[in-house]
Amino acid sequence: MTGRRTRDHIIGGARRLFQWLWPSVCTVCRAQPSMPDNPYFCAQCWRTMPHLSRPWCPRCGLPFASSAALLYSPTHLCSACRDREPPFERARSAVAYDGVAASAIHLMKYQRRRLLARSLGALLLPLLEELGPVDGVVPVPLHVQRLREREFNQALALAQVVCRETGWPLWWNLLERTRPTQAQVGLDAAERRRNVRQAFLVRDVEPVEGRRILLIDDVMTTGSTVHECARVLTRAGAGPVQALTVARQIRPGSA
Ligand SMILES: [Zn+2]
Ligand SMILES: [Zn+2]
Repeated sequence: MTGRRTRDHIIGGARRLFQWLWPSVCTVCRAQPSMPDNPYFCAQCWRTMPHLSRPWCPRCGLPFASSAALLYSPTHLCSACRDREPPFERARSAVAYDGVAASAIHLMKYQRRRLLARSLGALLLPLLEELGPVDGVVPVPLHVQRLREREFNQALALAQVVCRETGWPLWWNLLERTRPTQAQVGLDAAERRRNVRQAFLVRDVEPVEGRRILLIDDVMTTGSTVHECARVLTRAGAGPVQALTVARQIRPGSA
């Protein structure tokens, strides 16, 4: 514990020195960032993050435009969940994939601003009270080829934040992406589903059986990746799978 505190102290000191020597500016407004651990955004811009809130679909967390549906039935599901029953028990996302959230995720993922995983992962913590207890946390894996290009798995970095906070075990290599799927950007829902079909494998079935699993990813777009991972885990005998993503793409009229 003391060793960890000393290490955090040294890392914090080195980071402050680095920032003093090479001051960074907020990606949006060029003001000086003021949040510890986040040299890329100022607190004011970070607060503009479009947080998602109730009323939402109790199953997949998609916000409803009005609470009217839930007045009649508190278990009213969105049309997507009614059309195709999700393989997960519950999914929630912290913010809409837009504005500061989209640029922060983009910076973390494609420009290797790994430090942002801490601030983005912290957005998941208030959502934990939405979930039931879990036995283990599973990040959505990258294919080894993509991992080499990107040098780190953003979903794993986000899952680490949750596990540090909760003490839940991190099952970081339980799921494997067995083939390099095409980037989902620009594909429609059916193409995305086809793209991730049979792309994941549970490496070891034994620890999964009957266990409640929390799946973590950075963005949920049409939900095809989260669906496929939850499907594979459930098929391997997992107990209920719940899913958290930092951001969710909300298309007009999707509620
Ligand atoms: Zn700013
Ligand atoms: Zn739904």
